[in-house]
Amino acid sequence: MEIPPIEDRLHLECEVLVVGGGTAGTMAAITAAEQGARVLLLEKAHVRHSGALAMGMDGVNNAVIPGKATPEDYVAEITRANDGVVNQKTIYQTATRGHAMVRRLERYGVKFEKDEHGEYAVRRVHRSGSYVLPMPEGKDVKKVLYRVLRQRHIREKVRIENRVMPVRVLTSGGRAVGVAGFDTRSGRFVTVSAGAVILATGACGRLGLPASGYLYGTYENPANAGDGYAMAYHAGAELSGIECFQINPLIKDYNGPACAYVANPFGGYQVNNRGERFVDSDYWSGQMMAEVSAEIASARGPIYLKLSHLPGETVTAIENILHTTERPTRGTFHAGRGHDYRTHDVEMHVSEIGLCGGHSASGVWVDEHGATTVPGLYAAGDLACVPHNYMIGAFVFGDLAGAHAAAHHRAGGPLPQEQIDAAHELVYRPLRHPDGPPQQQVEYKLRRFVNDYVAPPKTGAKLEIALESFERMREEIASMGARTPHELMRCVEVDFIRDCAEMAARASLTRTESRWGLYHERADQPERDDEGWLFHLNLRRRGDGAMEFVKRPVEPYLVPVEEFAPVAAEPVTLGAAVATAVRRPAGERVAHAAVGRSPRILELNRLAEEQPSVDDLAPYLADPDPKVRRAAIATLTETVPEGTGPALVAALADPHGTVRRAAATGLVELVEVLPATPELG
Ligand SMILES: Cc1cc2nc3c(=O)[nH]c(=O)nc-3n(C[C@H](O)[C@H](O)[C@H](O)COP(=O)(O)OP(=O)(O)OC[C@H]3O[C@@H](n4cnc5c(N)ncnc54)[C@H](O)[C@@H]3O)c2cc1C
Repeated sequence: MEIPPIEDRLHLECEVLVVGGGTAGTMAAITAAEQGARVLLLEKAHVRHSGALAMGMDGVNNAVIPGKATPEDYVAEITRANDGVVNQKTIYQTATRGHAMVRRLERYGVKFEKDEHGEYAVRRVHRSGSYVLPMPEGKDVKKVLYRVLRQRHIREKVRIENRVMPVRVLTSGGRAVGVAGFDTRSGRFVTVSAGAVILATGACGRLGLPASGYLYGTYENPANAGDGYAMAYHAGAELSGIECFQINPLIKDYNGPACAYVANPFGGYQVNNRGERFVDSDYWSGQMMAEVSAEIASARGPIYLKLSHLPGETVTAIENILHTTERPTRGTFHAGRGHDYRTHDVEMHVSEIGLCGGHSASGVWVDEHGATTVPGLYAAGDLACVPHNYMIGAFVFGDLAGAHAAAHHRAGGPLPQEQIDAAHELVYRPLRHPDGPPQQQVEYKLRRFVNDYVAPPKTGAKLEIALESFERMREEIASMGARTPHELMRCVEVDFIRDCAEMAARASLTRTESRWGLYHERADQPERDDEGWLFHLNLRRRGDGAMEFVKRPVEPYLVPVEEFAPVAAEPVTLGAAVATAVRRPAGERVAHAAVGRSPRILELNRLAEEQPSVDDLAPYLADPDPKVRRAAIATLTETVPEGTGPALVAALADPHGTVRRAAATGLVELVEVLPATPELG
């Protein structure tokens, strides 16, 4: 492809812009629309099946259900799990609004486990209180949300642009006024003027390299490359707790969670090679991760998830969740190794490092409405620093940010040309040297440095080498080559990963103590130092490009927690490191290269945006290619036009098994939605 001139760009306008259509982003868009705002939702993939919920969810990790737990218990529990460094006001929002959110999701059609009295059947995993609420049909969450987004009253307010990826938030007079990005399919440059911008782009999942060796075989959804962290940083927003990494227990060589939250409530537990239980801290915290990691490294390693002692029907129940909802390939993986939970304990490991507010505390600094330190800019979900917020917290903060943005958006005037030019350069520079180093190679190198020098146990000396390496890699990243819009997306993601790696290393170097178990284990500073460091460590980009650190006091607790006594103090600005400017090689234009695609399925995807009728879909349902017929069934199931039931029943007679299976799955999924007709019996 050729570099598109800036003047040929697609320009869009809205009152509230949501970037990222995952858990937090879809909820933000729905709420902002319900509050009357004109919303634009941009998603680099496709809202129907993007983000951490794409393959579904096993359960709510942290629902505070009245009668089963109190908000105060929950706030105290999360404060302890985070060694006292929390803004309790934000956690309190999740604690007090989670129940209403569960009920709202239930109204939308999401199913939660109930006991024989019709009460939510929460289970205990945390040290105190029961917060885990299984979702027996969790695989349908994203589909349910998408259907809500496509309901007429929401559709009229929310414009969705799939495959559009913002790369920079544009600011004017210190306020967020829009974004610049590009279409990852056509390559077209895109700018947006917005009255408020909500970033909901998920975790930074591609920071470390997984033990499996697969570049994208990460614990997190690999499309979440840290885009929002980098965008918030370049817009001048503060980020917090970046040194508090995300590290999770997972199945060795398979990027699925080890599922303390799924298997443990059924009676599963972790053992070492002697069959002994070893985790003191059952709660999924940095402390637990330190115990797991130490056990693996000891003479008692490796470690296993033990399920072989459970009755057959319990194992089947676990398999029905683990092998269908989150990772349907999981059963195949175990079968490939000849392993069965009934006869084999499953080897576990720890994941690569990442940044994630939702699982640890590393994120964009937000207040209790999801507002960042840049006026008009919000952050919600895994991207935001609301510790251990998980899925229900992402929904709650999506809702809060959507409501606040809808009430406070403000027209921002003309977009800043200089920032648009810089974003254009950032996106399209790989086209100038298409034979430059390929993205996978550069990304591998960058993330290997992360594993070698940033992953815990950390030391000052290793972190210094990391910083040198990341500085050196700026040039190599700027010289990467690409030929297609998809490759451009991957290249700019590497730029985001580099930004996140630098933030992770600098923040880890600045906090001169150990805290949060393995998440910030400094081998050269092994003690926790509450006097010096019971503080938030925030970072931000100064006008001159330097990364500056601010030590912010922990605000007085709403719920006192005996072990911690934050001290009232003024924020203190610490030193700053000046970043070296990127040298961009000048170059000439390159010849146009076609992008491979399947035209019938792309046509269908476009049609799906327009609420097609069964007649519109009929040619695709009768297409000679079974893949197109299957995609047409998926579109029918997702958009549910009048006549869906009979069309799905007709597809049960399709000559191709995968099409028949898609039709049967669609009918099961829609059993409570479809009107009774003679065909449905
Ligand atoms: C493997 C796994 C298992 C989990 N299990 C549970 C569980 O059982 N229970 C629980 O409560 N929580 C669980 N969680 C946590 C929960 O899923 C997340 O906290 C929550 O879904 C995060 O929502 P989000 O909106 O921040 O991110 P996501 O839902 O991942 O959405 C981010 C979206 O942003 C898009 N995006 C990224 N960059 C850009 C860009 N530049 N432009 C446009 N779009 C972009 C992505 O494509 C994606 O759609 C799990 C998470 C993982 C990874």
